[in-house]
Amino acid sequence: MIQEIVKYGNPVLRAKGKKVEKIDDELRALAADMLETMYDASGVGLAAQQIGRALQLTVIDVSDAENRPSRMWIGGEEVDPKEHMPLILINPELELSSEQEAGNEGCLSFPEVTAEISRSTTVKVNAKDLEGNPIEFEAAGLLGRVVQHEADHLNGILFIDRMSSATKVSLAGKLKRLAAESKP
Ligand SMILES: [Zn+2]
Repeated sequence: MIQEIVKYGNPVLRAKGKKVEKIDDELRALAADMLETMYDASGVGLAAQQIGRALQLTVIDVSDAENRPSRMWIGGEEVDPKEHMPLILINPELELSSEQEAGNEGCLSFPEVTAEISRSTTVKVNAKDLEGNPIEFEAAGLLGRVVQHEADHLNGILFIDRMSSATKVSLAGKLKRLAAESKP
């Protein structure tokens, strides 16, 4: 079922997600709702916080982002990211490269806001899937960026926290309006 996406200003976006202890039907239903909600909003990633649940669970699908390439490695071998989408990541843990690059980002919880954000060029991910099996991969390009953006959500961190102060100043009015509209 498509859920309403929580917008900036709602405190759940600042809540650190609880670790998932049990993968049951309720969690599977939640992940299915998140995928449906993400596709409906034409997003490439969605965190549980964005539908009001502070949990370590995120869904990602970069297959339709034709103009922004992604790279993915499993066990050191490069694979086609499309063959591994959608990704459903439970309790993800990230290892970030020290090298960073800037890139454009948006967020479904911040309609009409985009900004250049610096992120690690590559990221190593350890997580569990919906069967409870470990998932381990490396990502770069758009996928690397999305994984970092979503993992931030799971810890209550938002992309505005990573904007340059000049960008934040230029968006201040927009953000204030957004927060005022979405106060629960
Ligand atoms: Zn976001």
